[in-house]
Amino acid sequence: MEQVVEVAVVGSGPTGLMLACELALAGVKVCVLERREEPVRESRALTMHPRSLEVLALRGMEARFLERGRPLPTGHFGLLDTRLDFSGLDTTFRYTLFLPQAITEALLAEHARGLGVDIRRGHVVESLRQDEAGVDLAGRAKGVPFRCRARYGVGADGARSAVRQLAGIAFPGTEAARTSMLGDVTLDLPPATPFLALNNPRGNAAIVPLGDGVHRAIVTDAERERTPPREPLTLDELRASLTRVAGSDFGMREPRWLSRFGDGTRLVEHYRREHVLLAGDAAHMHYPAGGQGLNVGLQDAMNLGWKLAAVLREGAPRTLLDSYHQERHPVGRALLSNTQAQSALMGFTPEVLALRELMNGLLRLPAINQRLAEQLGGLDVTYPDAPVPAPASPVLPGWTGRRLPDWTLRLADGGPCSLYSALHAGRWLWLHARHDAAPPSGWEPTPGWSPRLKVLAVETSADTSPLHGVDGLLVRPDGHVAWAWESSR
Ligand SMILES: Cc1cc2nc3c(=O)[nH]c(=O)nc-3n(C[C@H](O)[C@H](O)[C@H](O)COP(=O)(O)OP(=O)(O)OC[C@H]3O[C@@H](n4cnc5c(N)ncnc54)[C@H](O)[C@@H]3O)c2cc1C
Repeated sequence: MEQVVEVAVVGSGPTGLMLACELALAGVKVCVLERREEPVRESRALTMHPRSLEVLALRGMEARFLERGRPLPTGHFGLLDTRLDFSGLDTTFRYTLFLPQAITEALLAEHARGLGVDIRRGHVVESLRQDEAGVDLAGRAKGVPFRCRARYGVGADGARSAVRQLAGIAFPGTEAARTSMLGDVTLDLPPATPFLALNNPRGNAAIVPLGDGVHRAIVTDAERERTPPREPLTLDELRASLTRVAGSDFGMREPRWLSRFGDGTRLVEHYRREHVLLAGDAAHMHYPAGGQGLNVGLQDAMNLGWKLAAVLREGAPRTLLDSYHQERHPVGRALLSNTQAQSALMGFTPEVLALRELMNGLLRLPAINQRLAEQLGGLDVTYPDAPVPAPASPVLPGWTGRRLPDWTLRLADGGPCSLYSALHAGRWLWLHARHDAAPPSGWEPTPGWSPRLKVLAVETSADTSPLHGVDGLLVRPDGHVAWAWESSR
């Protein structure tokens, strides 16, 4: 049976689900094709960083995630002893949220269904063909062939992405040179510290409580680090390696999940080829240091969603989609470089151990600690090369592409208003300091493109206003600034 939609998203991981939510919010007809019959019970990711929480808050979705998660005020960089401190970051979410991936996916799926997204489980995509007007996807559902025709197809189908391969998009990089072991196990004698992290000449280990007596143990054993990622892990091997590295197996028993993962590092050459786009792990693969992959995937989805919706719904030119690659490819590159740096710091030679001491000292300097915390938290991303041209002048320098925190604005009629609440519907936002002001003429990005726009008159005269000196601010649906305007300049 053939299905016809505007966007077919392949993969119902966090990236695909977030993208589907964004598209459905804008009224785009979207379906998600997912090969698994049932959601995965094991959770690879355990953390949600500040920018991802902001992304959820931009759509008013954060409360359910916060309810189920646990805030942690610090994070780690390369398992260094000096922790990254999130408490001073310029965001409402000055922490990382401990939240297993299975819950994140369940909450996103529930939200997507509430918006009318058609999630088709048990649908394995096996072929893809493009023409001038769109894509044809085909595969099997319970052995029965299916077809899906869409204007755009998005591969959010993970690191081994079939969509990426079928579209012929190169994924250059390096194979795994080191593997680590993961076990979700019961520990009868858990470590005294809630989060154990150590690195020594024999390897490194981290132990994190998951609740109900279950802990996650991650071990890199210098003697076993060349084991291929696909070689199955046994409880005995994990136990022996943890004992070698940490001096104890902490009374390990009853494994719920045993797995191995590597430091293979790859980035797609292009995030888009004609009617096919890639997002999340399908576009970037790396050592999972610092817990970033899921987070960057959600943020890819936020960048892509409004652009696809603008092309399909608002008459935006297709070239807008090129800005997805232009804006997110550098973020992918930075992610790879950050995780490679952490992977190097997690080595065991005397030279690396000396480097770790040096880095531990440097991270005690607040400015350096904050810089890395912002990077890990996803708060340092800016898009200075706006995909939307500003009107001729006078545009204020330094604003274009900035990510905005959730400021409390004072409306011209006196009441307070959260900036993010004004973006919940996924529209553009024009904030202006005069009651009757409209965006300056020529603000529409290109002829024929009619963006959905919300207009708010705000009070900017107080010195304490974050918009002091700004007469107008155009905010993109993803919470980044398109441009700022000062009429008197
Ligand atoms: C040990 C470990 C710990 C991690 N910890 C963290 C962390 O703390 N924080 C963090 O941010 N990240 C972490 N990550 C990374 C994170 O798990 C991934 O980055 C994240 O799952 C990527 O999401 P995604 O939606 O892009 O891809 P995936 O989650 O891989 O989802 C892809 C989906 O596509 C489906 N699919 C695949 N092929 C097809 C096909 N042909 N047809 C239909 N469907 C298909 C799959 O079944 C799957 O459901 C960790 C990873 C590992 C290995």
